[in-house]
This record gives sequence, structure tokens and C-alpha cells, in this order.
Amino acid sequence: MLEKRDFYINGQWVAPQNGTDHHVIDPSTEEPTAVISLGGREDAEAAIAAAKTAFPGWMTTPVADRIALVEKLIEVYETRGEDLAQAMSSEMGAPLDMSRNQQVGAGTWHLKNFIRAAKAFEFNRPLNDRAPNDRIIYEAVGVAALITPWNWPMNQVTLKVGAAAIAGCTMVLKPSEESPLNAMIFAEMMDEAGFPPGVFNLVNGDGPGVGTVLSGHPDVDMVSFTGSSRAGRLISKNAADTLKRVHLELGGKGANVIFDDADEKAVKRGVLHMMNNTGQSCNAPSRMLVQRSKYDDAVEEAAAVANKVTVGPASEEGRHIGPVVNEVQWTKIQDLIQKGIDEGAKLVAGGTGRPEGFNKGYYVRPTIFADVNNNMTIAREEIFGPVLSIIPFDSEEEAVEIANDTPYGLTNYVQTQDDARLNRMAQALRSGMVEMNGTSRAAGSPFGGMKQSGNGREGGIWGIEDFLEVKAVSGWAAE
Ligand code: NAD
Repeated sequence: MLEKRDFYINGQWVAPQNGTDHHVIDPSTEEPTAVISLGGREDAEAAIAAAKTAFPGWMTTPVADRIALVEKLIEVYETRGEDLAQAMSSEMGAPLDMSRNQQVGAGTWHLKNFIRAAKAFEFNRPLNDRAPNDRIIYEAVGVAALITPWNWPMNQVTLKVGAAAIAGCTMVLKPSEESPLNAMIFAEMMDEAGFPPGVFNLVNGDGPGVGTVLSGHPDVDMVSFTGSSRAGRLISKNAADTLKRVHLELGGKGANVIFDDADEKAVKRGVLHMMNNTGQSCNAPSRMLVQRSKYDDAVEEAAAVANKVTVGPASEEGRHIGPVVNEVQWTKIQDLIQKGIDEGAKLVAGGTGRPEGFNKGYYVRPTIFADVNNNMTIAREEIFGPVLSIIPFDSEEEAVEIANDTPYGLTNYVQTQDDARLNRMAQALRSGMVEMNGTSRAAGSPFGGMKQSGNGREGGIWGIEDFLEVKAVSGWAAE
């Protein structure tokens, strides 16, 4: 078993001051794969102090030099891809090929997009033509606490660290205690890339411990958080006393609206998208809304597709889905599937219990419910497992009403061949992102939600701006 108790503070790996041991469990086997430390107040404060000391120097480092270090980081990242993939497979259960391609690949993608965006961004610019001596300066917010989840671990770490580094913020990263190993490899990469001591610090810990110290500390100027709405609320409340900036990327309950003129792959695509990463994505299309004339066929097809999704250990290569992250999530998903049955939804694939052939590991059966109505628990709560709810609708207006009838507003999806309808739907859906006919958003597009899915945007120039203050200057002397 790996022993990874140290934290990365001020450019060095240091032993915890008051850490407690924590086992990282491999969800495929239920066996411990590593032991880390959950830090205490002193550890978090040491990291905050290092970030605070490093801030003036880093903030005034020319942006071109900061970009150059992120470019160097990408070089290092590419040499450590396999280490990252193996770590994520063992700690959060992403099957190896998926981990290599999607989980690791997301990091390179985000870092490259930040560089492209930053090179085109004027950090110091005139207000406008009518006020030549007025200046707008974009300046780092300060010390940023970065709190990340386990479901897309490297995706989240790179989205936050890449943007904060280019903006000139110094950082304390607290990765999820469920998936700390990939983040510790990432800290080694930051070191190898040559970031000055204190610019990037990593302290492992849990929410009530290190998380709470970070969100409440007066020397932390900003918290960037991705995870559950529950933790998002606690962080916002705890951050209120120091009025720090709080950036939240929370859950979702995305609708995938399939009209009767959708392309023939729409249903299959929707089911497979839901099952990807074992359903553990905040932007998962977890409510499939199908127009009535296509409904029966869609239910049948969705069940057939789900029945063909294979489940297996994360350590194996191939296109199967892995287990969910831990026992708590497994139990929560089982309870929600049972609730779906109890509340009268029609189970057409999967169900409770482990898939056939497994008596160990946090494996869940790919599950499809039909005849769901939007008031059922499975249509309202983020399940975070491979469970899809299918809801019928008659008209476009009704589809919009159902899609928007949720506290969340992260991503909605639309499938139709009618161009005018695509654009109407894009405007009517209350979500930070709308994706059409299986087309992914392009490089540099912002990721983030409305309503209780959070605030702020990650990725591209919007991601960098979230770590910037806007300073307005009058009487700027001509250079
Ligand atoms: P979580 O929100 O508890 O954990 C995410 C991160 O927040 C971890 O690093 C955790 O240590 C930290 N954290 C937790 N409580 C905190 C606090 N009070 N202060 C500061 N930091 C805190 O997520 P979870 O409990 O592991 O997952 C539960 C549910 O959260 C899932 O079922 C899912 O619905 C949702 N979730 C959503 C996302 C997303 O990307 N939207 C990611 C993970 C989990």
C-alpha cells in the first residue's frame, strides 16, 4: 500500500503537523490502495501563509512568464499521463482506457485552452476611445483556495490551477479525500515545471477540517469549489464573515429533450452519455424527455442500450463502466433506485443490487426508469450513478417547462433536426450550457451553471477572469 502522508507547502513535501491517517479505498476491490493524512488547522494555515507570502511576487510576475510556466507544466503533464490514469482508476474507479483518454485528456485540453485565451487577452487596456487616460487593469484576486471533487478529479484541478496561475493568484489546493493521489502527482508536476515556492500548495483533508479552515480564513481571498450543493452552501456560509469571493460549480439534473424529428442515434447517444463515468458527472443528461409519438420506441431502445453496457473493474482496459466511488454513494444510489420503484416509475433496465457476477466492489446496474414524472425523487435529486429517468412530453412548451422545473441549471441537451426550434430551445432553457444534437462545446467555451448549479464559469477566458479583479484607473500616463 502506498504511503503518501506529506503535503506540498512552499515548494517542499512536508510532514503533517496534526494529520490523521486516512485510507484511500479502491472502489473496484473495496481494498485500501494508499494511506494519506487528513490535515488539521496548522497544516492548512501553513499552506495559506506560504501562498500569502508568495502572492506579491507572483502577481507582479509578467503574464508572459506565468503563461510560459503553464506551457512547461503541459510538457511535464504529458510525461506523467499514465501515472495519473493509474491513480484515478485505483482511487475513484474510472476504467483505465476512460481514465487515460477522458480523465487525463481533459487536463491537457483545459491547460492548452487557457494559454490560447490568455495570449489573446489584454490584462491592461484603455477603457475606450473617448477616455484615453482611463485604464482597466485585470489583477489577481489574491490567495485562492481550490476545493475539488472526486468525480472528474484532474479535470477540476487543471481548470482551477491553470486559471489561477495565469491570473496571478497563489493557491492552496485541497483535493477530495476520496481521490487525492492524482492531485499529489499533479503537485510533483508543478514542482518539476518550476513554479516558485508558495505559488501552489497542496494540503489533503476533509470538508469539516481543512475545507472549513480554508473557506473561513481571512488570508484567503477567494474559494473556488466544485462538488455537492450541500458543501457549496456550507462553504458560502462560512466564507460570508470574511466576504471572500466564492465561486461554485455544483450539481445538475440536465434534461435531454428528444423531439420526434431527432436523428436516429439520439436515444443511444443519450443513454451512453448518462452511463459515462458511471453517471458521476454534474452535467449528465439524467432526465431524458421524449416526445410522445417517439416515446415507446425510445424506452425500448434505451433499455436495450443499457442492457448492453458492461460493468467491470477499473484496472481493466476496455469500454465498460467502472464502480461508483465509494460505499456511501453506492448506498445512496440503491436507495434512490428503490425510491423510483416505490414512487411508481417503471423499471425497464437494471435495478437494485450489484450486477450479476459481482459480490464485491461498488458496482451499480445500468438502470433505466420509464414513465417518470418530474415530481418524483429520481427526477429531482442528483443521483450521481448510472440511472436514467425517461419522461414523456407532448409539445415544445411542455418540454421547456419540464426541463426548467428543477432547482438546477447546468447543462441541457436538445435533439431535433428543426433549426428554428434548436435556437428557440437554446434561448428558453435556463442553464449555463445547452448542447445540440451531440455536438460538444468547442475549445475555450465556458463551463458553469445557473440557479443552484452555481455561479461563475470555468474554462477559457471566463475561467481566468473568475480569478481576476478589475481595477479602474484614471489619469494613466501615456507610455
Ligand atoms: P462533497 O461536495 O462533499 O465533496 C467535494 C469536495 O468538497 C471534497 O474535496 C470535500 O472534502 C469538500 N468538502 C466537503 N464539505 C466541505 C465543507 N464543509 N467545506 C469545505 N469543503 C468541503 O461531495 P461528496 O459528498 O463526495 O459527494 C456527494 C454528492 O455531491 C454526490 O452525490 C453528487 O451529487 C455531488 N457531487 C457533485 C459534483 C459536481 O461536480 N457537481 C462532484 C462531486 C459530488
